[in-house]
Amino acid sequence: MEFKSINPYNGEEIAVYHSISKEELAEKLDNSQIAFQSWKKVPLAERCALLKKAGQILRDNVEEYAKMITLEMGKPISESRGEVKKCALVCDYYADNAESFLADEVIESDASKSFVSHQPLGGVFAVMPWNFPFWQVLRYAAPTLTSGNVGLLKHASNVFGCAQLIEDVFTKAGYPKNVFQSLVVNHDVTEQIVSHEGVRAITLTGSERAGSAVASLAGKHIKKSLLELGGSNAFIVWEDADIDKTVKIALTARMMNCGQSCIAAKRFIILEGVYDEFVEKFTEAVKTLKSGDPMDDDTTLGPLARIDLADELQKQVKNSIDQGAKLILGGKQNGCSHEPTVLGDVVPGMDAFDQESFGPLAAMIKAKSIEHAFELSENSKFGLGVTVCTKNIELALSHVDKVSDGAYFINELVKSDPRLPFGGTKLSGYGRELSKDGMMEFVNRKTVYVK
Ligand code: NAP
Repeated sequence: MEFKSINPYNGEEIAVYHSISKEELAEKLDNSQIAFQSWKKVPLAERCALLKKAGQILRDNVEEYAKMITLEMGKPISESRGEVKKCALVCDYYADNAESFLADEVIESDASKSFVSHQPLGGVFAVMPWNFPFWQVLRYAAPTLTSGNVGLLKHASNVFGCAQLIEDVFTKAGYPKNVFQSLVVNHDVTEQIVSHEGVRAITLTGSERAGSAVASLAGKHIKKSLLELGGSNAFIVWEDADIDKTVKIALTARMMNCGQSCIAAKRFIILEGVYDEFVEKFTEAVKTLKSGDPMDDDTTLGPLARIDLADELQKQVKNSIDQGAKLILGGKQNGCSHEPTVLGDVVPGMDAFDQESFGPLAAMIKAKSIEHAFELSENSKFGLGVTVCTKNIELALSHVDKVSDGAYFINELVKSDPRLPFGGTKLSGYGRELSKDGMMEFVNRKTVYVK
Protein backbone atom coordinates (compact mmCIF):
# COMPACT_ATOMS: atom_id res chain seq x y z
CA MET A 1 0.00 0.00 0.00
CA GLU A 2 1.27 3.50 -0.73
CA PHE A 3 0.51 6.79 0.98
CA LYS A 4 0.82 10.09 -0.81
CA SER A 5 1.75 13.28 0.99
CA ILE A 6 -0.14 16.01 -0.83
CA ASN A 7 0.34 19.74 -0.30
CA PRO A 8 -3.22 20.86 0.49
CA TYR A 9 -2.56 24.40 -0.74
CA ASN A 10 -1.67 23.52 -4.35
CA GLY A 11 -2.43 19.80 -4.64
CA GLU A 12 1.18 18.94 -5.50
CA GLU A 13 2.53 15.55 -4.51
CA ILE A 14 5.34 15.90 -1.96
CA ALA A 15 6.34 12.26 -1.56
CA VAL A 16 5.03 8.70 -1.69
CA TYR A 17 5.54 6.35 1.25
CA HIS A 18 5.20 2.57 1.00
CA SER A 19 3.78 0.64 3.91
CA ILE A 20 5.98 -2.04 5.41
CA SER A 21 4.89 -5.69 5.19
CA LYS A 22 3.44 -7.61 8.14
CA GLU A 23 6.74 -9.50 8.41
CA GLU A 24 8.74 -6.25 8.52
CA LEU A 25 6.34 -4.92 11.13
CA ALA A 26 6.79 -8.07 13.25
CA GLU A 27 10.55 -7.56 13.09
CA LYS A 28 10.27 -3.93 14.16
CA LEU A 29 8.04 -4.88 17.08
CA ASP A 30 10.52 -7.53 18.20
CA ASN A 31 13.37 -5.04 17.86
CA SER A 32 11.46 -2.58 20.00
CA GLN A 33 11.05 -5.21 22.70
CA ILE A 34 14.79 -5.99 22.59
CA ALA A 35 15.67 -2.28 22.73
CA PHE A 36 13.53 -1.90 25.86
CA GLN A 37 15.65 -4.44 27.77
CA SER A 38 18.72 -2.22 27.57
CA TRP A 39 17.03 1.22 27.42
CA LYS A 40 15.31 0.73 30.77
CA LYS A 41 18.73 0.18 32.37
CA VAL A 42 20.25 3.40 31.00
CA PRO A 43 20.68 5.75 33.98
CA LEU A 44 17.95 8.38 34.18
CA ALA A 45 20.50 11.22 33.99
CA GLU A 46 21.67 9.86 30.64
CA ARG A 47 18.12 9.58 29.32
CA CYS A 48 17.52 13.19 30.38
CA ALA A 49 20.71 14.35 28.65
CA LEU A 50 19.54 12.68 25.42
CA LEU A 51 16.18 14.41 25.71
CA LYS A 52 17.92 17.79 26.15
CA LYS A 53 19.88 17.00 23.02
CA ALA A 54 16.63 16.19 21.17
CA GLY A 55 15.34 19.63 22.20
CA GLN A 56 18.50 21.20 20.80
CA ILE A 57 18.16 19.28 17.50
CA LEU A 58 14.60 20.63 17.22
CA ARG A 59 15.81 24.20 17.80
CA ASP A 60 18.70 23.81 15.35
CA ASN A 61 16.38 22.62 12.58
CA VAL A 62 13.28 24.75 13.09
CA GLU A 63 13.15 25.85 9.45
CA GLU A 64 13.45 22.35 7.97
CA TYR A 65 10.86 20.83 10.30
CA ALA A 66 8.45 23.78 10.05
CA LYS A 67 8.61 23.59 6.26
CA MET A 68 7.63 19.91 6.28
CA ILE A 69 4.68 20.62 8.62
CA THR A 70 3.43 23.41 6.35
CA LEU A 71 3.92 21.43 3.15
CA GLU A 72 2.14 18.34 4.43
CA MET A 73 -0.81 19.83 6.31
CA GLY A 74 -1.01 23.50 5.33
CA LYS A 75 -0.42 25.29 8.63
CA PRO A 76 0.94 28.86 8.16
CA ILE A 77 4.74 28.69 8.36
CA SER A 78 4.92 31.08 11.33
CA GLU A 79 2.69 28.72 13.34
CA SER A 80 4.75 25.71 12.23
CA ARG A 81 7.90 27.37 13.57
CA GLY A 82 6.09 27.99 16.86
CA GLU A 83 5.06 24.33 17.01
CA VAL A 84 8.63 23.07 16.59
CA LYS A 85 9.92 25.49 19.25
CA LYS A 86 7.22 24.32 21.65
CA CYS A 87 8.41 20.73 21.10
CA ALA A 88 11.88 21.82 22.23
CA LEU A 89 10.30 23.28 25.38
CA VAL A 90 8.56 20.02 26.27
CA CYS A 91 11.91 18.22 25.88
CA ASP A 92 13.59 20.71 28.24
CA TYR A 93 10.72 20.44 30.71
CA TYR A 94 10.92 16.66 31.11
CA ALA A 95 14.74 16.63 30.96
CA ASP A 96 14.74 19.08 33.88
CA ASN A 97 11.96 17.46 35.93
CA ALA A 98 12.05 13.72 35.25
CA GLU A 99 14.29 13.03 38.21
CA SER A 100 11.89 14.57 40.72
CA PHE A 101 8.80 13.08 39.02
CA LEU A 102 10.27 9.56 39.02
CA ALA A 103 11.75 9.71 42.53
CA ASP A 104 10.39 7.32 45.13
CA GLU A 105 7.31 8.68 46.90
CA VAL A 106 7.39 7.85 50.58
CA ILE A 107 3.93 7.20 52.06
CA GLU A 108 3.40 6.70 55.79
CA SER A 109 1.52 3.49 56.63
CA ASP A 110 1.74 0.74 59.25
CA ALA A 111 4.89 -0.51 57.52
CA SER A 112 8.27 0.42 58.89
CA LYS A 113 8.82 1.91 55.44
CA SER A 114 6.49 2.17 52.45
CA PHE A 115 6.89 4.01 49.21
CA VAL A 116 5.96 4.10 45.54
CA SER A 117 8.69 3.30 43.05
CA HIS A 118 8.37 4.02 39.31
CA GLN A 119 9.32 1.66 36.51
CA PRO A 120 8.70 1.81 32.75
CA LEU A 121 6.10 -0.47 31.19
CA GLY A 122 7.71 -1.43 27.87
CA GLY A 123 6.49 -0.43 24.42
CA VAL A 124 4.02 2.46 24.22
CA PHE A 125 2.23 2.59 20.88
CA ALA A 126 1.09 6.03 19.73
CA VAL A 127 -1.55 6.67 17.06
CA MET A 128 -1.28 10.34 16.20
CA PRO A 129 -3.11 12.94 14.09
CA TRP A 130 -1.91 15.41 11.50
CA ASN A 131 -3.09 18.71 13.02
CA PHE A 132 -0.04 19.32 15.23
CA PRO A 133 2.13 16.65 13.63
CA PHE A 134 5.26 17.40 15.69
CA TRP A 135 3.72 18.58 18.95
CA GLN A 136 1.28 15.69 19.48
CA VAL A 137 4.14 13.20 19.06
CA LEU A 138 6.71 15.04 21.19
CA ARG A 139 4.30 15.62 24.07
CA TYR A 140 3.87 11.83 24.29
CA ALA A 141 7.44 10.80 23.45
CA ALA A 142 9.31 13.19 25.78
CA PRO A 143 7.92 11.83 29.08
CA THR A 144 7.34 8.29 27.82
CA LEU A 145 10.87 7.60 26.55
CA THR A 146 12.49 9.42 29.47
CA SER A 147 10.80 7.17 32.01
CA GLY A 148 12.45 4.21 30.21
CA ASN A 149 9.73 3.07 27.81
CA VAL A 150 10.26 2.57 24.10
CA GLY A 151 8.07 4.30 21.52
CA LEU A 152 6.24 3.10 18.42
CA LEU A 153 4.48 5.69 16.30
CA LYS A 154 1.74 5.28 13.70
CA HIS A 155 1.35 8.77 12.43
CA ALA A 156 -1.59 9.99 10.32
CA SER A 157 -1.08 8.85 6.76
CA ASN A 158 -0.90 12.41 5.34
CA VAL A 159 2.13 13.38 7.50
CA PHE A 160 4.59 10.52 7.13
CA GLY A 161 7.28 13.07 6.17
CA CYS A 162 6.94 14.65 9.62
CA ALA A 163 7.00 11.19 11.22
CA GLN A 164 10.30 10.42 9.49
CA LEU A 165 11.82 13.72 10.63
CA ILE A 166 10.73 13.07 14.22
CA GLU A 167 12.44 9.68 14.16
CA ASP A 168 15.53 11.49 12.82
CA VAL A 169 15.42 13.92 15.79
CA PHE A 170 15.90 11.02 18.20
CA THR A 171 18.54 9.37 16.01
CA LYS A 172 20.53 12.61 15.68
CA ALA A 173 20.28 13.17 19.44
CA GLY A 174 22.00 9.80 19.96
CA TYR A 175 19.14 7.61 21.22
CA PRO A 176 19.95 3.90 20.92
CA LYS A 177 18.52 2.16 17.84
CA ASN A 178 14.85 1.14 18.01
CA VAL A 179 14.03 3.13 21.16
CA PHE A 180 11.72 5.23 18.98
CA GLN A 181 10.40 3.92 15.68
CA SER A 182 7.99 5.41 13.20
CA LEU A 183 5.93 2.74 11.44
CA VAL A 184 4.67 3.38 7.93
CA VAL A 185 1.54 1.26 8.18
CA ASN A 186 -2.15 1.48 7.51
CA HIS A 187 -4.46 1.17 10.49
CA ASP A 188 -5.61 -2.30 9.41
CA VAL A 189 -2.50 -3.68 11.20
CA THR A 190 -3.39 -1.99 14.50
CA GLU A 191 -4.26 -5.30 16.16
CA GLN A 192 -0.94 -6.83 15.18
CA ILE A 193 0.75 -3.97 17.03
CA VAL A 194 -1.56 -3.76 20.04
CA SER A 195 -1.45 -7.53 20.62
CA HIS A 196 2.36 -7.77 20.53
CA GLU A 197 3.62 -8.77 23.95
CA GLY A 198 6.21 -5.99 23.98
CA VAL A 199 3.51 -3.32 23.61
CA ARG A 200 2.15 -2.51 27.06
CA ALA A 201 0.09 0.63 26.46
CA ILE A 202 -1.56 2.67 23.73
CA THR A 203 -2.08 6.41 23.38
CA LEU A 204 -4.26 7.88 20.64
CA THR A 205 -5.02 11.44 19.65
CA GLY A 206 -7.71 11.74 17.00
CA SER A 207 -11.38 11.20 16.30
CA GLU A 208 -13.95 9.35 18.41
CA ARG A 209 -14.18 6.73 15.68
CA ALA A 210 -10.45 5.96 15.79
CA GLY A 211 -10.35 6.25 19.58
CA SER A 212 -13.16 3.80 20.04
CA ALA A 213 -11.63 1.30 17.57
CA VAL A 214 -8.17 1.40 19.14
CA ALA A 215 -9.37 1.46 22.76
CA SER A 216 -11.55 -1.59 22.02
CA LEU A 217 -8.47 -3.47 20.84
CA ALA A 218 -6.55 -2.29 23.89
CA GLY A 219 -9.38 -3.59 26.10
CA LYS A 220 -9.47 -6.90 24.24
CA HIS A 221 -5.75 -7.41 24.89
CA ILE A 222 -5.87 -5.87 28.40
CA LYS A 223 -3.49 -3.01 27.67
CA LYS A 224 -3.76 0.44 29.17
CA SER A 225 -5.03 3.17 26.84
CA LEU A 226 -5.13 6.95 26.86
CA LEU A 227 -7.41 8.90 24.52
CA GLU A 228 -7.26 12.55 23.45
CA LEU A 229 -10.25 13.00 21.14
CA GLY A 230 -12.34 15.82 19.76
CA GLY A 231 -13.76 18.86 21.47
CA SER A 232 -16.28 21.65 21.07
CA ASN A 233 -15.02 24.12 23.62
CA ALA A 234 -17.31 26.88 24.85
CA PHE A 235 -15.90 30.41 24.94
CA ILE A 236 -18.16 32.31 27.33
CA VAL A 237 -18.26 36.11 27.37
CA TRP A 238 -19.84 37.84 30.38
CA GLU A 239 -21.26 41.33 30.18
CA ASP A 240 -18.42 42.92 32.18
CA ALA A 241 -15.69 41.53 29.89
CA ASP A 242 -13.25 43.87 28.15
CA ILE A 243 -14.67 43.20 24.69
CA ASP A 244 -11.67 44.46 22.67
CA LYS A 245 -9.23 42.24 24.58
CA THR A 246 -11.69 39.34 24.50
CA VAL A 247 -12.08 39.57 20.71
CA LYS A 248 -8.29 39.26 20.26
CA ILE A 249 -8.21 36.12 22.41
CA ALA A 250 -11.30 34.74 20.66
CA LEU A 251 -9.79 35.20 17.20
CA THR A 252 -6.71 33.13 18.07
CA ALA A 253 -8.79 30.63 20.03
CA ARG A 254 -10.90 29.87 16.93
CA MET A 255 -8.71 30.55 13.89
CA MET A 256 -5.26 29.29 14.88
CA ASN A 257 -4.23 26.33 12.71
CA CYS A 258 -7.20 27.18 10.45
CA GLY A 259 -9.49 26.08 13.28
CA GLN A 260 -8.14 22.52 13.23
CA SER A 261 -7.49 22.08 16.91
CA CYS A 262 -9.31 19.90 19.39
CA ILE A 263 -9.07 22.65 22.03
CA ALA A 264 -10.12 25.49 19.73
CA ALA A 265 -13.04 27.60 20.92
CA LYS A 266 -15.94 26.46 18.74
CA ARG A 267 -19.06 27.67 20.52
CA PHE A 268 -19.00 31.36 21.48
CA ILE A 269 -21.59 31.78 24.21
CA ILE A 270 -22.21 35.49 24.68
CA LEU A 271 -24.34 37.16 27.34
CA GLU A 272 -27.14 38.99 25.52
CA GLY A 273 -26.12 42.47 26.75
CA VAL A 274 -22.83 42.29 24.81
CA TYR A 275 -23.84 39.87 22.05
CA ASP A 276 -24.19 42.45 19.25
CA GLU A 277 -20.99 44.29 20.17
CA PHE A 278 -18.96 41.08 20.46
CA VAL A 279 -20.28 39.60 17.20
CA GLU A 280 -19.63 42.83 15.29
CA LYS A 281 -16.08 43.27 16.60
CA PHE A 282 -15.24 39.58 16.24
CA THR A 283 -16.47 39.62 12.62
CA GLU A 284 -14.33 42.69 11.87
CA ALA A 285 -11.33 40.91 13.42
CA VAL A 286 -11.94 37.80 11.29
CA LYS A 287 -11.85 40.01 8.18
CA THR A 288 -8.23 40.96 9.03
CA LEU A 289 -7.03 37.37 8.58
CA LYS A 290 -4.87 36.89 5.51
CA SER A 291 -5.65 33.74 3.56
CA GLY A 292 -3.06 32.48 1.12
CA ASP A 293 0.02 30.36 0.60
CA PRO A 294 0.91 29.00 4.05
CA MET A 295 4.61 29.18 3.10
CA ASP A 296 4.33 33.01 3.06
CA ASP A 297 5.35 34.62 6.32
CA ASP A 298 2.37 36.95 6.42
CA THR A 299 -0.33 34.32 5.76
CA THR A 300 -2.47 33.82 8.85
CA LEU A 301 -5.05 31.40 7.45
CA GLY A 302 -3.99 28.41 5.37
CA PRO A 303 -6.06 25.70 3.71
CA LEU A 304 -7.54 22.78 5.61
CA ALA A 305 -5.31 19.72 5.66
CA ARG A 306 -7.42 17.55 3.34
CA ILE A 307 -10.33 18.06 0.99
CA ASP A 308 -12.65 15.77 2.98
CA LEU A 309 -12.16 18.03 6.02
CA ALA A 310 -13.16 21.10 3.97
CA ASP A 311 -16.16 19.17 2.53
CA GLU A 312 -17.27 18.22 6.06
CA LEU A 313 -17.02 21.81 7.28
CA GLN A 314 -19.01 23.07 4.28
CA LYS A 315 -21.71 20.51 5.05
CA GLN A 316 -21.91 21.72 8.66
CA VAL A 317 -22.16 25.35 7.52
CA LYS A 318 -24.94 24.57 5.01
CA ASN A 319 -26.86 22.37 7.44
CA SER A 320 -26.65 24.99 10.20
CA ILE A 321 -28.02 27.68 7.87
CA ASP A 322 -30.86 25.34 6.85
CA GLN A 323 -31.49 24.74 10.55
CA GLY A 324 -31.92 28.49 11.13
CA ALA A 325 -28.45 29.93 11.78
CA LYS A 326 -27.70 33.34 10.26
CA LEU A 327 -24.70 33.64 7.91
CA ILE A 328 -22.76 36.71 9.07
CA LEU A 329 -19.47 36.20 7.22
CA GLY A 330 -17.87 33.77 4.75
CA GLY A 331 -19.56 30.45 4.14
CA LYS A 332 -17.89 29.31 0.92
CA GLN A 333 -15.52 26.43 0.21
CA ASN A 334 -12.92 26.37 -2.55
CA GLY A 335 -11.17 22.98 -2.71
CA CYS A 336 -9.20 22.48 0.51
CA SER A 337 -9.74 26.13 1.47
CA HIS A 338 -12.74 27.38 3.36
CA GLU A 339 -13.62 31.01 4.02
CA PRO A 340 -13.47 31.95 7.68
CA THR A 341 -17.13 31.81 8.61
CA VAL A 342 -19.21 33.41 11.34
CA LEU A 343 -22.72 32.07 12.04
CA GLY A 344 -25.12 33.96 14.32
CA ASP A 345 -28.18 32.88 16.33
CA VAL A 346 -26.82 29.35 16.75
CA VAL A 347 -28.82 27.17 19.15
CA PRO A 348 -28.72 23.53 20.28
CA GLY A 349 -29.95 21.19 17.56
CA MET A 350 -27.87 22.86 14.83
CA ASP A 351 -24.74 21.17 13.49
CA ALA A 352 -22.61 24.17 14.48
CA PHE A 353 -23.68 23.65 18.09
CA ASP A 354 -23.95 19.87 18.37
CA GLN A 355 -20.95 18.74 16.33
CA GLU A 356 -17.27 19.48 16.48
CA SER A 357 -16.36 21.89 13.66
CA PHE A 358 -12.76 21.21 12.65
CA GLY A 359 -12.12 24.36 10.61
CA PRO A 360 -12.57 28.16 10.57
CA LEU A 361 -16.21 28.25 11.66
CA ALA A 362 -17.28 30.34 14.66
CA ALA A 363 -20.76 29.75 16.08
CA MET A 364 -22.28 32.72 17.96
CA ILE A 365 -24.74 31.69 20.66
CA LYS A 366 -26.80 34.06 22.83
CA ALA A 367 -27.15 33.37 26.58
CA LYS A 368 -29.76 34.99 28.85
CA SER A 369 -27.68 34.78 32.02
CA ILE A 370 -24.45 33.40 33.46
CA GLU A 371 -26.34 30.28 34.57
CA HIS A 372 -27.78 29.84 31.09
CA ALA A 373 -24.28 30.24 29.59
CA PHE A 374 -22.97 27.37 31.73
CA GLU A 375 -26.01 25.23 30.85
CA LEU A 376 -25.28 25.78 27.15
CA SER A 377 -21.59 25.07 27.67
CA GLU A 378 -22.38 21.77 29.42
CA ASN A 379 -24.79 20.83 26.61
CA SER A 380 -22.08 18.97 24.70
CA LYS A 381 -20.92 15.39 24.32
CA PHE A 382 -17.35 16.70 24.58
CA GLY A 383 -15.39 17.93 27.59
CA LEU A 384 -11.98 19.33 26.74
CA GLY A 385 -12.11 22.89 28.07
CA VAL A 386 -14.03 26.10 28.66
CA THR A 387 -12.98 29.75 28.61
CA VAL A 388 -14.78 32.47 30.57
CA CYS A 389 -14.01 36.13 29.90
CA THR A 390 -14.85 38.60 32.68
CA LYS A 391 -13.32 41.20 34.96
CA ASN A 392 -14.80 39.40 37.97
CA ILE A 393 -12.18 36.72 38.57
CA GLU A 394 -13.61 35.78 41.99
CA LEU A 395 -17.05 35.15 40.52
CA ALA A 396 -15.54 33.14 37.66
CA LEU A 397 -13.56 31.05 40.15
CA SER A 398 -16.75 30.34 42.10
CA HIS A 399 -18.03 28.49 38.98
CA VAL A 400 -15.16 26.01 38.64
CA ASP A 401 -17.38 23.15 39.83
CA LYS A 402 -20.03 23.90 37.20
CA VAL A 403 -17.71 22.88 34.38
CA SER A 404 -17.28 19.16 33.77
CA ASP A 405 -14.47 19.61 31.21
CA GLY A 406 -10.80 18.86 31.71
CA ALA A 407 -9.84 22.55 31.75
CA TYR A 408 -11.32 25.90 32.84
CA PHE A 409 -9.49 29.01 31.63
CA ILE A 410 -10.35 32.53 32.75
CA ASN A 411 -9.53 35.38 30.31
CA GLU A 412 -7.36 33.09 28.18
CA LEU A 413 -7.85 30.63 25.38
CA VAL A 414 -7.60 26.98 26.37
CA LYS A 415 -4.04 25.98 25.51
CA SER A 416 -1.54 23.31 26.44
CA ASP A 417 1.51 24.01 28.57
CA PRO A 418 4.15 21.36 29.41
CA ARG A 419 3.77 22.24 33.13
CA LEU A 420 -0.01 21.72 33.29
CA PRO A 421 -2.07 18.53 32.92
CA PHE A 422 -3.94 18.25 29.63
CA GLY A 423 -6.88 16.00 28.80
CA GLY A 424 -10.61 15.68 28.53
CA THR A 425 -13.77 14.14 29.91
CA LYS A 426 -16.86 12.61 28.24
CA LEU A 427 -16.27 11.84 24.54
CA SER A 428 -13.11 13.95 24.56
CA GLY A 429 -11.34 10.97 26.07
CA TYR A 430 -9.54 10.00 29.25
CA GLY A 431 -6.12 10.20 30.83
CA ARG A 432 -3.80 13.18 31.12
CA GLU A 433 -0.79 14.28 29.15
CA LEU A 434 1.94 16.78 30.07
CA SER A 435 3.07 17.76 33.60
CA LYS A 436 3.91 15.07 36.15
CA ASP A 437 0.53 13.43 35.39
CA GLY A 438 1.59 12.76 31.80
CA MET A 439 4.70 10.97 32.92
CA MET A 440 2.78 8.89 35.47
CA GLU A 441 0.39 7.51 32.81
CA PHE A 442 2.95 5.09 31.40
CA VAL A 443 4.89 3.88 34.41
CA ASN A 444 4.31 1.09 36.87
CA ARG A 445 3.68 2.85 40.18
CA LYS A 446 4.93 0.02 42.29
CA THR A 447 4.09 -0.22 45.99
CA VAL A 448 7.06 -1.20 48.13
CA TYR A 449 6.35 -2.28 51.71
CA VAL A 450 8.79 -3.15 54.50
CA LYS A 451 7.29 -4.82 57.57
P1 NAP B 1 -8.57 10.26 12.71
O1 NAP B 1 -9.17 9.61 11.55
O2 NAP B 1 -9.01 9.84 14.05
O3 NAP B 1 -6.98 10.09 12.60
C1 NAP B 1 -6.12 10.18 13.73
C2 NAP B 1 -5.19 8.97 13.74
O4 NAP B 1 -5.95 7.79 13.95
C3 NAP B 1 -4.48 8.76 12.40
O5 NAP B 1 -3.17 8.27 12.64
C4 NAP B 1 -5.33 7.71 11.72
O6 NAP B 1 -4.67 6.98 10.75
C5 NAP B 1 -5.69 6.84 12.90
N1 NAP B 1 -6.88 6.02 12.71
C6 NAP B 1 -8.03 6.36 12.11
N2 NAP B 1 -8.92 5.34 12.18
C7 NAP B 1 -8.30 4.33 12.83
C8 NAP B 1 -8.68 3.02 13.19
N3 NAP B 1 -9.89 2.54 12.93
N4 NAP B 1 -7.77 2.25 13.84
C9 NAP B 1 -6.54 2.72 14.11
N5 NAP B 1 -6.14 3.97 13.80
C10 NAP B 1 -6.99 4.77 13.16
O7 NAP B 1 -8.73 11.80 12.65
P2 NAP B 1 -8.86 12.69 11.34
O8 NAP B 1 -9.96 12.23 10.45
O9 NAP B 1 -7.53 12.79 10.74
O10 NAP B 1 -9.29 14.05 12.03
C11 NAP B 1 -10.65 14.38 12.19
C12 NAP B 1 -11.12 14.34 13.62
O11 NAP B 1 -10.10 13.89 14.54
C13 NAP B 1 -11.49 15.72 14.11
O12 NAP B 1 -12.84 15.94 13.89
C14 NAP B 1 -11.13 15.71 15.59
O13 NAP B 1 -12.24 15.37 16.37
C15 NAP B 1 -10.18 14.61 15.77
N6 NAP B 1 -8.89 15.10 16.15
C16 NAP B 1 -8.65 15.37 17.46
C17 NAP B 1 -7.41 15.81 17.84
C18 NAP B 1 -7.06 16.10 19.26
O14 NAP B 1 -5.99 16.67 19.49
N7 NAP B 1 -7.83 15.71 20.25
C19 NAP B 1 -6.43 15.99 16.88
C20 NAP B 1 -6.74 15.72 15.53
C21 NAP B 1 -7.96 15.25 15.18
P3 NAP B 1 -4.92 7.26 9.20
O15 NAP B 1 -4.40 8.62 8.91
O16 NAP B 1 -4.15 6.18 8.53
O17 NAP B 1 -6.41 7.16 8.99
